[in-house]
Amino acid sequence: MTTAPLGPTSNSSAVAAARTILTRLHEVMASRSHAQAKLNTVVEVIGASLDSEVCSIYLLREGMLELFATRGLAQEAVHVTRMAIGEGLVGTIASRAETLNLAEATAHPDFSYRPETGEDKFHSFAGVPIVRRERCVGVVCVQHVDPRRYEEVEIEALQTVAMVLSELIANADLVDEEEAAGLAAAQTGPEQLRGLTLVKGLASGVAVYHQPRITIEHIVAEDTEAERQRVYLAFDKMREQIDRMASQAEFGSGGEHEEVLETYRMFAYDEGWSRRINEAIDSGLTAEAAIERVQQRTRMRMRQIDDPLLADRMHDLEDLANRLLRIVSGQLGTAASAGLRQDAILIARNLGPAELLEYDKRRLKGVILEEGSLTAHVVIVARAMGIPVLGRVKSLRGKVREGDPILLDADSALAFARPTRDMMIGFDERYAKNREKQAKYAALRDVVPITLDGERIAVNINAGLREDMPNLQLTGADGVGLYRTEFQFLVSATLPNRERQTRLYREVLESAGNKPVVFRTVDIGGDKSLPYLRHDEDGEEENPAMGWRALRLALERDSLLKVQARALLEASAGRVLQVMFPMISEPWEFDAAKAVFEGQLAHLRKLGKTPPEAVKYGAMLEVPALAEVLDILLPKLSFLSIGTNDLTQFLFAADRSNPKLAERYDWLSPAILRFVRRIAVAGHAHNVPMTVCGEMGGRQLEALALLGIGIRRLSITPAGVAPIKDMVRRVNLAEISAAMAGWLAHPPVSLREEMTAWAAQRGLIGD
Ligand code: PEP
Ligand code: MG
Repeated sequence: MTTAPLGPTSNSSAVAAARTILTRLHEVMASRSHAQAKLNTVVEVIGASLDSEVCSIYLLREGMLELFATRGLAQEAVHVTRMAIGEGLVGTIASRAETLNLAEATAHPDFSYRPETGEDKFHSFAGVPIVRRERCVGVVCVQHVDPRRYEEVEIEALQTVAMVLSELIANADLVDEEEAAGLAAAQTGPEQLRGLTLVKGLASGVAVYHQPRITIEHIVAEDTEAERQRVYLAFDKMREQIDRMASQAEFGSGGEHEEVLETYRMFAYDEGWSRRINEAIDSGLTAEAAIERVQQRTRMRMRQIDDPLLADRMHDLEDLANRLLRIVSGQLGTAASAGLRQDAILIARNLGPAELLEYDKRRLKGVILEEGSLTAHVVIVARAMGIPVLGRVKSLRGKVREGDPILLDADSALAFARPTRDMMIGFDERYAKNREKQAKYAALRDVVPITLDGERIAVNINAGLREDMPNLQLTGADGVGLYRTEFQFLVSATLPNRERQTRLYREVLESAGNKPVVFRTVDIGGDKSLPYLRHDEDGEEENPAMGWRALRLALERDSLLKVQARALLEASAGRVLQVMFPMISEPWEFDAAKAVFEGQLAHLRKLGKTPPEAVKYGAMLEVPALAEVLDILLPKLSFLSIGTNDLTQFLFAADRSNPKLAERYDWLSPAILRFVRRIAVAGHAHNVPMTVCGEMGGRQLEALALLGIGIRRLSITPAGVAPIKDMVRRVNLAEISAAMAGWLAHPPVSLREEMTAWAAQRGLIGD
């Protein structure tokens, strides 16, 4: 890979110009002189090097940009000329944090003439912001008598100088960083973020980047060769990481991930990029500053290109540059390892379920993702934790900065960064309404979900962590219809041993009291991969969601299943154990899994330990093929559970964690509903209890559709229990069944629209 797709190619004169200035600036910075004297020398050095009659430095003081030093303007103006943020050319540069390069300064609409400076004879003007910790703390500018635009080489030299100045300014305490932080908020103002609701709810907190931005402390290099070596090593390490990622099963699930990885690799091996960083080091910067400098340049170029595809690629390069920075500066780890200090809204491109679980649940109030989809496991985990999630927010990381106050209104698929007072008031009102709704729902806890025509609907919850169990009592649900045992494996650094598993299952059963719990054996793989359980022998998997996962893995690694069986059987001593197997594709897999349990049961008896009072075996229907052999499977089962998350992805051949497909297929589609109805008919014929345990059952309209096709048992996210009970108590089953029969026989163009109107007319769905 030798192409350089982004950024200008620096030439040797740019490097030489920057190098000369930097060497001189380095001497100035190392000198013992007073800060003001240093600034006076700096403007002389820059002006002379760029052959400019004027060079001035404005710094932020008491909310204004004050002229601190100048060569070429009237000295009487120093500490006298002050510009507000947004005022004049200097104020405009600071407010937009952008470079200006003008042949004729007076022609610019923001030009504001300051007579005390004597600047009327100068025509050309170029200025760049001085940025410290992502905040603009000042402006450095040059002016020339001739009306000419400055060369790109000169602008680049000026930008490099601005980086060095930021260090000088910080070391000399010339600006108040707190003040700069406040100003930065005012600089950009409020921003509304639109996305896709992944988990409903309202929350507020400060923005925390899952992968924190790096703070660069040293800009000017002491030893250029040493810096070069540091960058070489960091590049090697980064390339190794990217190659490793590409060969890992969980990342190679096809579609967007592969595309992203391919782009990452392209950038990681891009010689143009590494050459530009090298040139920046040649000009006298440290490794960190050189990476940042090149990144700044690329960002600037990208701003001028109005192409959303390229903007996406820009994020990839930004990600990679951050990764390189983290490696070179040794600032590794996510925000979870640093700990949350206050209520936080997590900002990330995407997250894994295990990464989310690392956060302190008391402080993590919400999540905003650039990607994400409704049935991705991280979203399921967040839903179980009661954390609102907004996904698919475009250019998120460009719009929100670390520490920004955020109001997250996932109910309306919105968030506000740096909100105004009015926005806060509006949010508080919604929040209060939401609490009222919660209180109304809490009152439904002891209400039994019976339809108007007298049918009792079973409403269970899905769980997976010990912390989920109190939800059973809080919601008044009938039991746990799906306990995802793999969550314990996900939060653990090593494979949980039998004792640990037994303890957990016992605790789960104890906290459930006399309500039933259906345990599902581990469903590892797909987007739930474990570092300590890889299938390396056969190389990477191209499509892990359809690969070596769930029962397939468990039957092959039968010691894993044996250990889990023993733990579940022992934990259920004297009680009824209900266990089901995920991702069954053919009936023999059910037989094989059951045989493992029966073997362990016999062993337990032989050891004289108390066995469960009874063991009920169930299967999950997630693979469409199983629907064709229900006549063989159903007679073997005590119950069947329909996992509509996976079933949908396989029916539509649409990866459930691919954000591009997140909104494409609707659960209220005739294909899914007819398919589930077919299963329901077979289940009723064989008298096998059936539950739907996918995410769709937790939404009022979808649950209504399921009732209409014969489903009478749901297992859903705890937050969905009250709204679903509420809906159930208003519905007439005979009426919805007849309506569904009609719709599925002759599907309307949009079943969702049709059903929404139908349900609204009858007051079936709440707000
Ligand atoms: C499903 O696939 O619908 C299901 C409930 O299982 P999971 O979401 O854990 O894959
Ligand atoms: Mg599943």
